[in-house]
Amino acid sequence: MIPGIRYLVSALFAALVVMSAHAGEISAIQVSGDTEHTRITLTTSEPIEHGSFLAQPGGVAQVEVLLPGSVVLSNAATPPPGGAVESYEIRDDEVVFSLMTPMMVSRTLNLSPTTLERNYRLVIDLVRVAPVRFERAVTAQAGAKQTYRAQMASLARRAPEPAIGASRPDKYVIVIDPGHGGKDPGASSHNQKREKNIVLSTSLKLKELLERNARYEVYMTRETDVYVDHEVRVSKARNWGADLFISVHADAAGNSAVSGATVYTLSSRGERRIDGTAKTNGWDLPIEDGTTVEVSGILADLIRRETKSNSSVFAEMLIPELAKAGPVVRNSHRRENFFVLLAPDVPAVLVEVGFLTNRSDVARLGSESGQRKSAAAIASAIDTYFEQRDLLYAAN
Ligand SMILES: [Zn+2]
Repeated sequence: MIPGIRYLVSALFAALVVMSAHAGEISAIQVSGDTEHTRITLTTSEPIEHGSFLAQPGGVAQVEVLLPGSVVLSNAATPPPGGAVESYEIRDDEVVFSLMTPMMVSRTLNLSPTTLERNYRLVIDLVRVAPVRFERAVTAQAGAKQTYRAQMASLARRAPEPAIGASRPDKYVIVIDPGHGGKDPGASSHNQKREKNIVLSTSLKLKELLERNARYEVYMTRETDVYVDHEVRVSKARNWGADLFISVHADAAGNSAVSGATVYTLSSRGERRIDGTAKTNGWDLPIEDGTTVEVSGILADLIRRETKSNSSVFAEMLIPELAKAGPVVRNSHRRENFFVLLAPDVPAVLVEVGFLTNRSDVARLGSESGQRKSAAAIASAIDTYFEQRDLLYAAN
C-alpha cells in the first residue's frame, strides 16, 4: 500500500461513504458560500450516486451534477442560490449549476442523518480556480460525462450490489522507535545504566505484547544497539504506512528528586517546521497527482490537523496508563519541538518513561518487571486508541 493512503482515507473521508448506485428522492437544493468557496447541499431520502462534470457552454462556467436514477421532487425546496452560483437548472437526470466565476469540486461528502438533520445529504464543495485551469479541466474531461452515463446505465441493469462503506482497515501499523543507540547512548544513571539500552529492552517488550494482537503490524526503527538518524526513523515509519508512531526515551534532570513519566506531542514551534522538513525529506502527502494547488492545500491542511489531534488523543490516553505503571510528572502531557514528531501524516508521541537521574526511577526502569509495566501501559493505551478508531469506522 502506498504509505499514508489509508491514513488519508481514514482521516479525511471517514464520513464519505462510497455507495453502489442508489435511486433517491431529492427534497431540497441549497447553495451557500462566497466566490472563493461554495457549497451545494442536496437533501436526499438515502445516499445517492452522483457524478460531477465541468462544462463551459458559451463561455459560462458550469458544474453539471449527474444524479442517475434520482429525482428532484416537484415540491422540493429550492431557495435562490448563494455563493458563486448564479442560477441552476433541474433537468432529467442532472442539475446544472451556472457559476459567476470558474470553480472546481474540492470534495464531496455523503452525510448520514444526525439528531439535528434527519435526512441524508450529498455535499459538493467548490473552490475558485483560475480560468485557465478551469478550461484545461473542461478539455481533459471531454467525453467523461457520456462514459459515466453509459457506466451507470449498465450498472443499473445488473443486480444491486451491497454498499461499500469506509470500512475499518484489517491491520493497524504501529511503529516503535527506541531512542538513541550505537554511538549515541542518551542519558546515563549513577550506576551506568544507559538510556539506549533501557529504551530498547522496554520497546522489545512492547513489541512482544502488541504482536499478541493479530490486528497489529508492529515495526521498530531499531532492534539492536545501532545508531539511526532521526530522519531515517521518520522516513521508515512513513514507508511502513504507520498509523501510530511511539518514540521511547528516558529522561535526565539536574534535580535528582524529579521522577516519573512524561508524554510529548509536537509543539507549535515544531508545527511550523513540518512543511520545510517534509519538503527536505520528500515526505509527500498522499494526495493524488493532478489535484489542483488549491485543493492540495486544503487537503494538506486537513491531514496536518487530523494528525495533530490524533497525537493528542493518544497522549491523553497514555498518561493514565503510565500512572498505573509508576509515577508521572506534573503536567504530564507536554509539547516539544522534537524531530521524530515531525511527520505531517503520522500521529506521533514521544514518551519519556522516567528519569535516569532519579534513583527509584532507575531501579524501576532497569528492572524486567518495571520495563514490562511500562510496556504494558503503552500497549493498553494503544488498544484503547484503536478501539476508538474502530468505533469511528463503525459509526460511518
Ligand atoms: Zn532520549
